[in-house]
Amino acid sequence: MDVRGRWVLVTGGSRGIGAATVRELAGRGAKVVFTWRTGEREASELARSLPASAEPLALACDVRRPEDIDRVAAEVRSRGIEVDVLVNNAGTPIRGSFEEASAEQWDEAFALHVRAPALFAKAFAPGMKARSRGVIVNVGSVAGLRGVAGITLYCTVKGAVIQMTRAMARDLADAGVRAVCVSPGIIRTDFHRNMSAEQKKLNEEKRIPLHREGRPEEVAQVIAGLVEADYITGENIVVDGGLTMRIA
Ligand code: NDP
Repeated sequence: MDVRGRWVLVTGGSRGIGAATVRELAGRGAKVVFTWRTGEREASELARSLPASAEPLALACDVRRPEDIDRVAAEVRSRGIEVDVLVNNAGTPIRGSFEEASAEQWDEAFALHVRAPALFAKAFAPGMKARSRGVIVNVGSVAGLRGVAGITLYCTVKGAVIQMTRAMARDLADAGVRAVCVSPGIIRTDFHRNMSAEQKKLNEEKRIPLHREGRPEEVAQVIAGLVEADYITGENIVVDGGLTMRIA
């Protein structure tokens, strides 16, 4: 889809990969709605930095709360905005193996990483189907493809995001609407703010074949490229410098 003049909505647009995606899509001529949770100042600064053609609208939303998602959808509709591209990006790292996690932590992990993108898609898919155009991009993770010790919850919910994308893609295809997933590897954002210097060194020297962490802009370019790639649906595209292709 050519995004020029089309409305996109990015969840978790205040920082990191979401902010880079907002900038990338606005740079390609899209009009942007994005959500923030705690980063009001960052969201305002981002909105101010965008070209006027983006007509930026930044809305508060804790995506774990269905009522917040309903409020964002109602606000967007009340302004007559037709969202043609939805990027489900909001998320935080979730520590904990299955032996450590409580029932509440499982619910919280699914609410943030699985239920929220599903409810956003539910809110905006009918409009896309009615217009016979639209793309939903879910942000997964390489952790959804591999077993990673100590983070069972995160691996599980991201695996669910990748699989949900395939099923959504089937549900939407007849209407000419696509769903795709982008799974980043280790990307330099606040997400890894607690990573030790030793871990970072190990990643860059030994684990990542391209010997560096990714930049949020590099994920954003793939998201935007998939939005424009009209013959791809249901796919998961990995952006990880080769991290998951290696066996030694
Ligand atoms: P950041 O920590 O840099 O940014 C997270 C974004 O999500 C912020 O905009 C934040 O909003 C928003 N957010 C977090 N929790 C909520 C919530 N409950 N409701 C609404 N918004 C929320 O993370 P990244 O940019 O690195 O991560 C973005 C996505 O990419 C996530 O889904 C993550 O799982 C995925 N990912 C990241 C990887 C990485 O290496 N960085 C690797 C693989 C996947 P605010 O600041 O306003 O609170």
